[in-house]
Amino acid sequence: MTSFTESAHPRGQAANAGQFRTKMNDEPASELSQAPIVSCTECGAPAEYRYGNVPRGYRSPETEAAFCGAHAARVAADGGTIEDLPKPQEPGETVVWLIEGDDHEYELVEAVSEEDALDETADRFRDRYDDDDAPRDSLTVAGVFRGDVDGYSDELEFVPYGDIAENDAYGKLQDA
Ligand SMILES: [Zn+2]
Repeated sequence: MTSFTESAHPRGQAANAGQFRTKMNDEPASELSQAPIVSCTECGAPAEYRYGNVPRGYRSPETEAAFCGAHAARVAADGGTIEDLPKPQEPGETVVWLIEGDDHEYELVEAVSEEDALDETADRFRDRYDDDDAPRDSLTVAGVFRGDVDGYSDELEFVPYGDIAENDAYGKLQDA
């Protein structure tokens, strides 16, 4: 941490805009919320569908098939039930974040980004434990969902995020 330099942060000085007025930052190298790309189990093409009617908590990426349009159509023709794969979060979309503290306590917060969700959760822990050293760094995202944060947890719909497994996210949601 460097010390504060007054001339770098001028306030109300017309002659000196300060070095940060024109400073441009590079865009992030990658999307933080990038969801894993799912491939069709049959042909390896990008998948958009999966088996429907599978109870929550009973899917696993290793064993559950995903299908491209053509193979989804074949499964459906054979009488299988097909549904869309969960969609990733849209840019700027508010979703429900399941945040896990280091003591395996969970908070559900609505936010548009992981950063905002972690900030909000850290604030709650600070208030709850009256601890200014609330451990923001120890908070992790355990699941991301669409739905009403104040509604029933079984109405929340999983949203792919990082390498979080759908089953794990629903399992921890039960503990929240
Ligand atoms: Zn396919």
